[in-house]
Amino acid sequence: MGKVLVVGAGFMGSGIAQVSAQAGYQVHLVDIQTAITERALNNIRWSVEKLEAKGLLKETSEKVLARISPEKDLSSASEADWVIEAVLEVEDLKRGIFQELDRISRPGTPLATNTSSIPITRIAENTKRPERVLGLHFFGPVPLMGLVEVVKGEKTSPEIFERGVTFVQSLGKTPVRVQRDIPGFVMNRIFSAAFREAVDLVDQGIVSPEDVDVGMRLGYGWNAGPFEIADNAGLDTCALIGQSMRALGAGYLAPSSNLIERMVVEGRLGRKTGKGFYRYSPEGKRLPWENK
Ligand code: NAD
Repeated sequence: MGKVLVVGAGFMGSGIAQVSAQAGYQVHLVDIQTAITERALNNIRWSVEKLEAKGLLKETSEKVLARISPEKDLSSASEADWVIEAVLEVEDLKRGIFQELDRISRPGTPLATNTSSIPITRIAENTKRPERVLGLHFFGPVPLMGLVEVVKGEKTSPEIFERGVTFVQSLGKTPVRVQRDIPGFVMNRIFSAAFREAVDLVDQGIVSPEDVDVGMRLGYGWNAGPFEIADNAGLDTCALIGQSMRALGAGYLAPSSNLIERMVVEGRLGRKTGKGFYRYSPEGKRLPWENK
């Protein structure tokens, strides 16, 4: 099937590595510390074993896990057929990584970013192959969510864009084509408009996060409310996306209040720290924040 290099082994990178391995790709999973790739592999093991127990894996979990090798640097970019970057939402960090990936990987290899907000064109500027750089915007948790936005930068070639679509389908995901490169792409802009309003209403004491989530489930048929989604995504990541949207001139899609930033300072990062808009039991059960 080929080799996929995933850069960043956090919430998204570990999910992308998992679905790539499940689809039969050999996966190199890179992060800055061994402890982080180890934690990612433990999470992937937990997830594939659960899928196996439910009869949802085509092969044994061991076979899937054996396809993922944890790594500490980008050297295996030289043998990758696809590279997907999923590091923190910080433009300078991503640009530096793309410069290095461009240097190490074969000239024909497509370089994809999982950025939530930063235009692909800006990230591609640091490479000598902007026609081979595209956005593959996965949704989290990646093993459970079926959607990937495929985003065309100003210089992305039509051939690479369509290869992105085919690659996403090979992972069992459904692609949505985003034909123009704007901050936040399409789905995040639509979500952000609702989330901005929801955060501001909660911060003004008009409504509780739980009631907003119930309202969006029952009133609009959302599968999960905006605060459940934000807690799953990580409030630190939400804060970085808000900062990025403001810096890119799309601040009207970010909350006016600094509630998210205040919560991050308090260590309320969402599910990953067991507390965010909700609390989480050690087994991961979501509980209302108020009934402490
Ligand atoms: P995360 O904080 O869980 O993981 C980011 C990882 O990047 C960390 O493990 C960190 O150690 C690693 N990293 C930092 N610098 C690195 C480097 N130089 N080399 C290798 N790894 C490095 O964040 P996340 O939620 O997985 O988000 C990652 C990206 O995906 C961001 O661009 C984010 O906007 C995007 N995204 C997030 C979500 C979501 O729901 N969280 C959804 C779609 C897209």
